[in-house]
Amino acid sequence: MKIIESPAEMQRFSESARLAGGRIALVPTMGYLHEGHLSLMREGRRRASVLVASLFVNPTQFGPREDLDSYPRDMERDCRLMETVAVDVLFAPQASAMYPPGAQTWVEVTELTRDLCGASRPGHFRGVTTVVAKLFNIVKPHYALFGAKDYQQLCAVRQMVRDLNFDVEIVPMPTVREEDGLAMSSRNSYLSAAERTAALSLSRALQAACKAFAHGERGAGRLAQIARLELERMGGVAVEYVEVRDAVDLREIATVQAPAVVAIAARVGRTRLIDNMVLGGAE
Ligand code: AMP
Repeated sequence: MKIIESPAEMQRFSESARLAGGRIALVPTMGYLHEGHLSLMREGRRRASVLVASLFVNPTQFGPREDLDSYPRDMERDCRLMETVAVDVLFAPQASAMYPPGAQTWVEVTELTRDLCGASRPGHFRGVTTVVAKLFNIVKPHYALFGAKDYQQLCAVRQMVRDLNFDVEIVPMPTVREEDGLAMSSRNSYLSAAERTAALSLSRALQAACKAFAHGERGAGRLAQIARLELERMGGVAVEYVEVRDAVDLREIATVQAPAVVAIAARVGRTRLIDNMVLGGAE
């Protein structure tokens, strides 16, 4: 696996790969890899002749009181895992190379990022879409793979690609879970044993909503309430939001007529977790 730190070198590499007829897949990550990340890389490997993974803990998507400094990092282990899924190039830039002094341009998806996680994390999605736009210009991928685990992020990236005519296919990938249902996340490493148990309430709440939907419940408010009751039943979880929204544009809905997403954000101890499931659709 080749490791590239410099954006200019990455651009040169990708340009020559394209000129040679290569198809490039990109999997952007913040590292501390788990099976969720690896599932994206395997699909990228399947689709493209050149598989690029990026590892960049992007400072602009963290708020001032968030976990940028404590975010888990283990580059050696990440490299070993990437080798197992045959990543060709790891793009791992320094923050100073991605944001040289004087940078002043942002990419912002407005409506889609206002609610849900956007409401409690001001500036987060602006940081995400800005760094993803930069990664697209640096890596020049034909495909970029994103997990449905970060559902609002996936929607925002798709919207950005549509609005700004990026010539890249966004490939959404299903959420990979632990055997007991907990959605895999680098931040799960923050959880104590008791918190790890409490965190199961998130997936259980989503399953409760899915079950009610399967039994015919279509009221968005009632489905959200069913999920909220399950989320709060065991204790140890501070709910930030439980919402049932349109699965494509995340607008509020009264009844589920087209695919909808049940989305949850909650704190378990000091750790903020998110999870979601789609009702009546493929994702
Ligand atoms: P992160 O390193 O957390 O920024 O995630 C990098 C990519 O992996 C994003 O596209 C995430 O949506 C995706 N991802 C994270 N967790 C999971 C998971 N449990 N299942 C599938 N994809 C995931």
